[in-house]
Amino acid sequence: MLLESAPMDASALLAPLNPRQREAVTLPAGHALVLAGAGSGKTRVLVHRLAWLLQSGEASPFGIMAVTFTNKAAAEMRERTERMLATPVRGMWIGTFHGLAHRFLRTHWQDAGLPEGFQILDSEDQLRTVRRVIRGLELDEARWPPKQAQWFINGCKDEGRRPADLGTPEGDPWQGGMARIYGVYEETCQRGGMVDFAELLLRAYETLRDNAGLLEHFRRRFGHILVDEFQDTNAIQYAWLRLLAGDGGRLFMVGDDDQSIYGWRGARIENIQRYPEDFSDVRVIRLEQNYRSSANILDAANTLIAHNQGRLGKNLWTEGRRGEPVHLYAAFNDIDEARFVVGRIAKWVEDGGRRDDCAILYRVSAQSRIMEEALLQQGMPYRVYGGLRFYERAEIKDALAYLRLVANRDDDTAFERVVNTPVRGIGARTVDTLREAARGGGVSLWRAAARLVADGALGARAQGAVRGFLELVEGMAGRYLEMPLAEQVDNVVRDARLREHYDKEPGEKAQSRKENLDELVTAAREFHQAPGDGNEAEMGELDAFLAHAALESGEGQAEVGQDSVSLMTLHGAKGLEFPVVFMCGLEEGLFPHQNALDEAGGPEEERRLCYVGITRARERLFLSYAESRRLHGQELHQQPSRFLRELPREVLEEVRLGGTVSRPVAASAFAAADGEYRLGQHVRHPKFGEGVVINCDGEGAHARVQVNFDREGAKWLVAAYARLQAT
Ligand code: ATP
Ligand code: MG
Repeated sequence: MLLESAPMDASALLAPLNPRQREAVTLPAGHALVLAGAGSGKTRVLVHRLAWLLQSGEASPFGIMAVTFTNKAAAEMRERTERMLATPVRGMWIGTFHGLAHRFLRTHWQDAGLPEGFQILDSEDQLRTVRRVIRGLELDEARWPPKQAQWFINGCKDEGRRPADLGTPEGDPWQGGMARIYGVYEETCQRGGMVDFAELLLRAYETLRDNAGLLEHFRRRFGHILVDEFQDTNAIQYAWLRLLAGDGGRLFMVGDDDQSIYGWRGARIENIQRYPEDFSDVRVIRLEQNYRSSANILDAANTLIAHNQGRLGKNLWTEGRRGEPVHLYAAFNDIDEARFVVGRIAKWVEDGGRRDDCAILYRVSAQSRIMEEALLQQGMPYRVYGGLRFYERAEIKDALAYLRLVANRDDDTAFERVVNTPVRGIGARTVDTLREAARGGGVSLWRAAARLVADGALGARAQGAVRGFLELVEGMAGRYLEMPLAEQVDNVVRDARLREHYDKEPGEKAQSRKENLDELVTAAREFHQAPGDGNEAEMGELDAFLAHAALESGEGQAEVGQDSVSLMTLHGAKGLEFPVVFMCGLEEGLFPHQNALDEAGGPEEERRLCYVGITRARERLFLSYAESRRLHGQELHQQPSRFLRELPREVLEEVRLGGTVSRPVAASAFAAADGEYRLGQHVRHPKFGEGVVINCDGEGAHARVQVNFDREGAKWLVAAYARLQAT
């Protein structure tokens, strides 16, 4: 669509939209909420709104901020807008919350109380730092596991809470320990000029809040703020939006409560409900026509999500074809499942389809391995999104850590990472001594090391080794000053002797690591800084590249242009669409995931995730489960997922090897799991009337069922006395 090269007039901008969408796009300046189900064109409306604002002169690129969920979506939005308007748009703030907060902090680092060259800690760096803090405090890692502490810290930041806000929780030693860890962690980061992901958001928020002049400036600047996937904003993101909007800014929010899938990471679905209350005059527009999926796929999605309570309620319909049935495959085990999936993709390609059309979606990333093996066996190109990302690989992180030290000697995480990589005789004991000195003096590891060397306070061997390391990095810093970025990267790999270091690893691994290092040089060469405003301090090329490496989520990693199958988690698939979708591992305990089953609201969030998965498919949807599966080194035998039972039977068709038989799925797949009542079964109660069974619990005389009655809402009934009739 929209490939015109001449600037569009307004009618061309509105032509590819339905009347409701047009209404949303052309709303007069004010607050708006577009609340609509999957595939109804929310993202399309957002992009057209942006172009509309620019084209009608309502706003200049300077006056717009647009928030999307991934960097890829941001790049697409910019590109589509530029194509529609046939002119480059400079100065516009389009990006993810993290990307925009980062951009803000880079420009206003002084107001934010950060060093100019502050570094971003990704999640693995953060975990390492937290672990170091816990050890430093001599706390028991079994009681305060680093991972949980990291979770605790991020949870606090997402809610806007600093260590000082936690008070002294007396009588709760666990909480007290966590609070101490958070406090020391924060000091460590501040000292080293390190900022984790959650900190980006919180710091940006606080900086604006506490800085009247700055706030005034940005409020005046951004007359329009547009947000996609609003249902997944967390407390601090929403607070930031409110602050920025103030009394004058207009918020254009687009979202779907049924697709809120990041509750476990602090997203607040309530924000959608709060927004019209927090701002007066929010125009709410609902879109109901789905343009993405065939009618069968849409029916499956609608019926499934109807099992959730407290929805804002939406009606999705399509003019599209009924299409193929939704295919269900009961695999013997996970290997069989993978073979089935790859076989179907091969067939699709044989029939003239593209591999790009196909996506394999799964609940946990560990499921990708078996799929990858099956794909490799078939020699079928694929790309894993959000797996171990390029920039998270050990060799890449080593090279980047040297560069980070070059940029900022106080970066403790980088220091620890490479002080003895490659091995240079700086043992764990020496590093402990450095840590103690750093803690004692309240300085970074680098400074502590420099002081110890100057004072001759280390043993002779360690003294030489540490001095060697310090000189190596100082030497790099001196020489790299005037070099272009790609040369710096090339040199750092050579100067640090990383290739030689990895050469010592056996076999294939070493080769692939060296290739990755070469790839890093290429990435640096191709790196272009995001266009600035001309109005802001541009950050140095190296800083920009390092920030990019930390924020980049591997979205553009594989060879560009190669026709390949996409693999990703269901969470990673949000907002995307594919003609052919495989949703794998539909087993109780895996999907819905066991962790979620144990949590309040968990099963419903899993159901929304399933809804997201189903609605990614345009033409063909395959669901599969395996009767046994090896995962995390364990052999599992799980029941088919409850979500399968919640789908309408009419649209399902079970795939049997050797041919396809259309028959009621219930009999074969679910017999074992069914109690007296089936989930999704329509029943009538003498007093409450008609309803749908949405939950079963217990057995025999203790069996209870929950029925969602059309008139009375959800009720729990004792099955033996309920006098329910099947309808
Ligand atoms: P999700 O909830 O999954 O993010 P969405 O509501 O953002 O979905 P879009 O991705 O914007 O939906 O649109 C879904 C598909 O429908 C896209 O392929 C889009 O191009 C197409 N589409 C949207 N509106 C129209 C329309 N009026 N006419 C034709 N196609 C449309
Ligand atoms: Mg969308």
